[in-house]
This record gives sequence, C-alpha cells and structure tokens, in this order.
Amino acid sequence: MNPTIMKFGGTSVEDANAFRNVAAIVKDAVPLRPVVVVSAIGGFTNALLASVQKAIGGDARAATRSLDHDLKRHVAIARELLNAESCAAFELTVAVTRREIRQLHKIIAMHPVTQPPLQDEIVAYGEQLSAQLLAAVLRESNLTARYVDARRCLRTNDNYGSAVPLPETTPATRAELMPLLESSRIPVLGGFIGSTDKGVTTTLGRGGSDYSAAIVGAALEAREIQIWTDVSGVLTADPRMVRKARTIPVLSYQEAAELAYFGAKVLHPKTIQPAIDCRIPVRVCNSRAAGEPGTLIVAESEAAPQTVKAIAHKNGITTVQVTSARMLGAYGFLRALFEVFDRHRTAVDVVTTSEVSVSLSIDNASALPELIPDLEQLGAVEVEEHRTIISIVGEGLRNTPGIAARVFSEISDINVSMISVGASSVNLTFMVEESRATEAIKRLHYVCFEAPASGSRTELATEEVTA
Ligand code: ASP
Ligand code: MG
Repeated sequence: MNPTIMKFGGTSVEDANAFRNVAAIVKDAVPLRPVVVVSAIGGFTNALLASVQKAIGGDARAATRSLDHDLKRHVAIARELLNAESCAAFELTVAVTRREIRQLHKIIAMHPVTQPPLQDEIVAYGEQLSAQLLAAVLRESNLTARYVDARRCLRTNDNYGSAVPLPETTPATRAELMPLLESSRIPVLGGFIGSTDKGVTTTLGRGGSDYSAAIVGAALEAREIQIWTDVSGVLTADPRMVRKARTIPVLSYQEAAELAYFGAKVLHPKTIQPAIDCRIPVRVCNSRAAGEPGTLIVAESEAAPQTVKAIAHKNGITTVQVTSARMLGAYGFLRALFEVFDRHRTAVDVVTTSEVSVSLSIDNASALPELIPDLEQLGAVEVEEHRTIISIVGEGLRNTPGIAARVFSEISDINVSMISVGASSVNLTFMVEESRATEAIKRLHYVCFEAPASGSRTELATEEVTA
C-alpha cells in the first residue's frame, strides 16, 4: 500500500495533551503506512521570528532569552510524556539548540546583513525540535518512529524565507524515506524547512508545513495526504455567523481553491498544488475530534459535481468604481487602470465591467489615498467602504440552470452589486453592504443546506425564511 502523509499543525502540538492526541491518531493509522510531518509547537515560529528582530536591534542576549519560555514548554511536554532516559536526551537537544541559536543571535547582532540565511537557520529549529519530540513521544507509545531531518529531503533554491522546492526533492525524499517505510518505521519530519544544494537551511514561507506535506506526498506517490488541524474540515459557512454550518464531506480541488481566498482555515491552493498535480486526495481533519470525518478534497470528477458546497464571505471590502467615456470602444484603458493598482501594490479581487465603467474590489485599502488621484486621471472615481463579498461555491454552478435567479430572489430586498460568475464558474460572487451580510448569508445557507424540501442540494428551495 502507498503511504499516507499525516501533517499536524502547530495547534495540534501545542501542549502535552495535544501530543498525546497525535500519538493516538498516528497509532490508529499504522496500517496506512504513515509518514508524519509536523509544524513547530503553536506560537514558537512567531517567537523565533521576533527573536531575530531583537537580535537585529543589537541585544543578542535578550533575543535568546525571549525564547526561554517556549523552550521550557518543550521540556515540560517531554517531562510529562517521556521516560527518564529519552527525556534526558531531549533536554540535552534543547540545551544544544539554545546554545546554537545564541551564537546565531550574536552574529546577527554584529552583522545584520547575515539576517536572511541566519533567520531561516534559527526559525528551522522550531520544526526540528517538534519533530524530534514527537518522534520520541511516538516511541513512548511503542511505535517505531524515526526522526528524519527534513532538510535532507526538501531541496530548495536559496530564496530565504520563501524558498522554492527543486526537482531533486523527489529522489532525495524517496532515498531518505523509502528504506524506513520498507522496514515498517514511521518517519517523522518537520514541515516548512529545506536546504540548498550547499546544505544551507531554508524555509518555505509561513504556513509552509502544508506545502511540505504535499511535496513529500507527491514524491512518495502517497495514497492520501491528511492535514490535521483544529477545525472539523471545511464548513458550509462561517460557524460564528451560521449556527447550522456543517462540514462539507467532499470538495473538488477547484472548489477548495475558491474557498481558500475566504477562509484562513482552508488550505492555500499553492500548498496543495503538488497533490493536485499527482491527483492525490487531501483530507482536512480535526486533531481534537479525530472521530469526525473531516473534508476530503479530490479531483473534480469524484467530487459530487452537482451540488453547491459552501457560502463563503469576506468583510471589510472596499469597492472602487471608475467611470469614463474614454473606455467606449477604446483599447488600453484596462491596462492603464490596472497599472495604477500595480504601481501602488494593491491586489484586486473581483472585477466587473460595463461599456463605460469598471468596478473593482480590494481588501487592503491602505494605499487608497495615493491611489485615487492616479485613478482620477482616468475617469470619475467612486469609493464604497464596508462591503462584504459573498461567494457561493460549488461545481453545481457550472451546469445547473436557475441557481443565480433563485439566489438573488432569496435576497431580493438586499442591495447587491458587482455580480460575477467567476471565469471558472464554480463560484457566484457578489457584494453586499456589510451591515446586511449576516442576514443574507443566513438566508442563503438556509435555502442551500437546511431547507427541508431541498432534496438534492442544488435544488434551492424558495420557502420564506424568517431569519
Ligand atoms: N511553523 C511554520 C509557521 O508557523 C510553518 C507551519 O506551521 O506551517 O508558519
Ligand atoms: Mg500552520
């Protein structure tokens, strides 16, 4: 059987109890030939990055001291979960780590130009420590776990802080991990970190452990990649807004990518690209409720295509409308317009156009004061703040007629603007005023997922809803 990659995020390894849960989850998965990928313990990556800033400020001693609290958390977990001998070994590892980081802090304080590679070197200790600790905890549960230095597997360029994996990663990962799997060992490696061809440590960018898991999964032709986190998969809506939001059982890769923009809890599309390329299913599971099925993300053909899957939203959106008769029948106008956003480094999310006007939505409006005068060179500018983007996502939108009509009739008393049926057509996106968003989302959730008559879920019922 091909292996299963099991990735545990920082919140899944934040304390002794969390480690215990992980051990139980891995134990149950032994027949699936697990390969474990783990993040730094919750909060430690932030602390490591902050320590580098302190060192740059010149105070290397304070920089190192600022890590003592988190280093002690590691030791406390070890003391609670390991036998005396392996605990002593791990405490030694922590002490050595502190000494090494201390040296690096001193170098950065004296020569701040060394920051980029040394920051990666320092931050990488987070994943190295959690992986060594987890391997020891798994052994304590009588599992044949073996710590693997992920830097021997993930080969990257030297773009420190957001290094790009290189093709050599595949043979290197296979060479490191296959012999272990063949002798029934459970490899445990840190996510997020790699090394250059010269052996210099690199990191893949924040949240990079998911990416590591997908890369390792692709290299080993995994049966499945599991992302263990602190929520029960991907939900049909934000549970803080819709009490009856529930876990979506199956999503297509493209639906997941559409949802990623809206929910911090959903995987970033880039991180699962290696899985998509190899058509490996990705499962999002809850390490605090391991019995719940979570969400399985698969290729479109297997993903129950005829349904609406989720209602996503994002508050705090600003829309900008530029109107100009110059647009009529002219070319080059859109380019000029987008160049303004480009110049001010402002990302545009939704765009709709008519013959004489263009509306754009942005979620970071900090550059607007400088941006608007430039836009005014092109036409009349109107800005509206406090908007919410609502997006209905599902492969069902591709070929189920009438969904748009039913969605909009459900919220016909709410002012809707910037309607866009995404180019991909697995989403129907529009803007409402922030003050009406909750109401709109609740009603849409009801017709899409709760209404008793809905039968098939794309059959949006049209009953009156008392929100
Ligand atoms: N520990 C790293 C971070 O916090 C990588 C990860 O958790 O995915 O960004
Ligand atoms: Mg994470």
